[in-house]
Amino acid sequence: MIRRPRIAYLLFALAVPLAWGACAAAGLSAASSPHPAFRNLDPEFRRASYWERAHSFLIGGTWWLPEYRVKALAAATPDVRALRDNGIEATVTWVGHATLLVQLDGVNFLTDPTWAKRTGPFSGRVGVGRYTPPGIRFSDLPRIDFVLVSHDHYDHLDEPTVRRLHEKFDPLFVVPMGIKSWLADRGIDNAIELDWGQSVFAKGLQVICTPAQHGSGRTLVDQGRRLWSSWVVLGSKRFYFGGDTGYFRHFKEAGDAYGPFDLAALPIGSYTPREIAKPVHISPEEALQAQLDLRAAHMVGIHWGTFGLARERYDEPPQRIAAEVQRRGLDPESVWILKPGETVHW
Ligand code: ZN
Ligand code: ZN
Repeated sequence: MIRRPRIAYLLFALAVPLAWGACAAAGLSAASSPHPAFRNLDPEFRRASYWERAHSFLIGGTWWLPEYRVKALAAATPDVRALRDNGIEATVTWVGHATLLVQLDGVNFLTDPTWAKRTGPFSGRVGVGRYTPPGIRFSDLPRIDFVLVSHDHYDHLDEPTVRRLHEKFDPLFVVPMGIKSWLADRGIDNAIELDWGQSVFAKGLQVICTPAQHGSGRTLVDQGRRLWSSWVVLGSKRFYFGGDTGYFRHFKEAGDAYGPFDLAALPIGSYTPREIAKPVHISPEEALQAQLDLRAAHMVGIHWGTFGLARERYDEPPQRIAAEVQRRGLDPESVWILKPGETVHW
């Protein structure tokens, strides 16, 4: 019997390479940012073309094998009241993917917020499904003072989520160059955009835009037109948010300039196939090296176990972290692999 491919399957197959970094889709409006394409620090930087990535995914993929099937991560129950009442302690709660709720000096902020059930174009109607629900319900969030966005890929800048945040909390959006006008097009004006090296004070915390090695784009026509970044937040403690990034000297430079950090949030998933992902996604082993470069006392692993974006097994990143920690004789207490909804003090 010949099975006809279902339309949902085809949409899924097309959307995965889109959301998986390339983010190209016909039919969306052109970027409102007139900026010429931004570049990475590495003059040798080259990433696979969209078609190489799509071909690799569709033809060479292993995602359809049974052992690669995903299942929701075991979750923790967040202490919502403690988070709401906390005005002093430094905490971090993993919501899922690159979304963290961070509390520092009585200020609450989110990184790359997404509560989406699907990550992709058309407000998440097309794209890659979420298999681990958000670790904290949107309605349970404490007041959010500001939001950090690392870049415009769908899994980091989710339109329905930023609209909800704007309506409920009117937080300050601190974004890399080019995203302010994207927000303004959606009626969100409480935003400041920064270039690498620029900083702003938000609720008394110093927020610095720092480099990442990645790319950007939500359509075929806006590739690289909005900047991508990592972020440093300085208060009574020092926090680093890696966003989405390949490995380069920017970790060492951030460590030298702003470290040592108390906590670094670093991506540990979506690193395969290596020949395609390496320029723009660090491996678990590189994340641990980045932690050392940053001189970060603690690292929390993000960007895994949430959306069906990765080619590696969904549960592989923490296993590789554990193996590398042991191989290099690192302190296992310094590396945090959290459950969704789990809060730690830092
Ligand atoms: Zn990305
Ligand atoms: Zn990503």
